[in-house]
Amino acid sequence: MVKPKISGYMSKEINLVWFRNDLRVGDNPALFYAAEQGTVIGIYLEAVEQRKLHDDAACKIGFINDSVKELRKELNQLNIPLHSFKVEDYQQSAKKIEQLVKEYQANGVFFNNEYPLNEKERDEALEKILLKQGISVNRYDGDLIIPPGSVSTGKGEPYKVFTPYKKAWIEHHKMQGASPLPRPNKQSYKVDKQSDYDFSHEYRQDLWPAGERAAQERLKEFLPKAGYYKERRDIPSVKGTSMLSPYLAAGSISARQCIEALLDWHDGDEDAFYKDTWLSEIIWREFYRQIIIDNPEISKHKVFKSDAKEVWNGQQDLFEKWCQGKTGFPLIDAAMRQLLQTGWMHNRLRMNVAMFLNKLCLIDWRQGEDFFMRHLIDGDFASNNGGWQWCSSTGADGAPYFRIMSPITQSQRFDPEGKFIRKLVPELASLSDKDIHFPSSEQREELGYPQPIIDYKEARKRALELLS
Ligand SMILES: Cc1cc2nc3c(=O)[nH]c(=O)nc-3n(C[C@H](O)[C@H](O)[C@H](O)COP(=O)(O)OP(=O)(O)OC[C@H]3O[C@@H](n4cnc5c(N)ncnc54)[C@H](O)[C@@H]3O)c2cc1C
Repeated sequence: MVKPKISGYMSKEINLVWFRNDLRVGDNPALFYAAEQGTVIGIYLEAVEQRKLHDDAACKIGFINDSVKELRKELNQLNIPLHSFKVEDYQQSAKKIEQLVKEYQANGVFFNNEYPLNEKERDEALEKILLKQGISVNRYDGDLIIPPGSVSTGKGEPYKVFTPYKKAWIEHHKMQGASPLPRPNKQSYKVDKQSDYDFSHEYRQDLWPAGERAAQERLKEFLPKAGYYKERRDIPSVKGTSMLSPYLAAGSISARQCIEALLDWHDGDEDAFYKDTWLSEIIWREFYRQIIIDNPEISKHKVFKSDAKEVWNGQQDLFEKWCQGKTGFPLIDAAMRQLLQTGWMHNRLRMNVAMFLNKLCLIDWRQGEDFFMRHLIDGDFASNNGGWQWCSSTGADGAPYFRIMSPITQSQRFDPEGKFIRKLVPELASLSDKDIHFPSSEQREELGYPQPIIDYKEARKRALELLS
């Protein structure tokens, strides 16, 4: 344990800032207000066993740990130290904070809220303990653009449907605004030695350079393409989306910073800004966060719609083939291989593979949700659960039960020349634009590509019968 030189902190009060999914210096309310009120000591805790319980992917953990390293560099430039420690689980996290408060003789603890149930309960328990000890607890909503509960229906209830939520969200944003906070001022003492731990780097660093600067770079690269987003966002062979999701999930960039930059890109034209499709996707992110806040049962693997039919009795070997990208449906296999190779999957494909697994193979969507968490670099409980429940028609404003994407038609429509498939399923590269979406039995034999694991028409018919 590195002891701080208390004398170096002058007479100002000492505030601990506990960083979690907010690994940035800009637009970080906990950091900003802690620095306004006193001298800041940054803390990061890696809860090793908790990560296992939450099925966090190795690539996500590696990316986050490198993001912490980058955060330390940023903080040190402001003369703010960042001490990081490994702990077992969330109970230990709370104990560690309590211990650090004592060691540093801190007056207050500052953090930005996380919304899934385990995190919420951890924070509430810690808050109680610290308040009893006379330590101030200062909580903020840095992960959301508008604070939880800012909008509700005419009856004062939380929204369950996206479109009216979005309308109310926009009205709220128009009235209240939500400008990002600046970086805090430089502190007046030099940073001493900082506690750190060893960690893995098991992620594609070539694709996902970690940290706040890299996130800002990515946003800058994306904005000139924002005008084409609506047309290109569904084409997986094209870089038509921002690929900011791992950075938003780790908090290397805030959603507020993203949309402020989008408004600037629209030259402050609010009409164009509020109609922007990319903004709409960011509002989906807010919607799913609000859903888990209002419905804590979701964090316990419950379906959102209590009357949803759960008819998942598919064969486990179908799940295995799906996981490996060997279903015999080229678009599905290309998508799953993209996930396995990069830790990320294009949104159109996430929808396709989820519906394929759940509705066509009749595998419980929760198995798919877990598999995604175990492999996604952007694994985010609210968005992942929201996406899976949307696809399986069990969720808030989910797809209607009869909406089942055809993996062949979707392939013809969104990857017409098979460019994406050719890259991810190279054994099919020699096929024509027509054949690549669903090769014949002979072509499969010849190229060493699996036969389809389901009969699409039959599977679709069966799903409709079971779900109607
Ligand atoms: C089954 C399924 C599982 C998903 N799991 C996750 C997950 O674990 N983590 C995650 O961040 N997103 C998840 N999504 C949402 C979406 O697929 C990704 O956010 C998106 O593909 C990320 O790429 P991008 O950064 O280029 O997005 P862009 O299209 O550039 O969108 C910008 C940002 O908006 C947010 N966003 C976009 N679409 C959605 C959406 N449908 N729901 C919620 N937020 C959205 C993301 O933060 C994204 O980075 C899931 C979707 C589905 C259908």
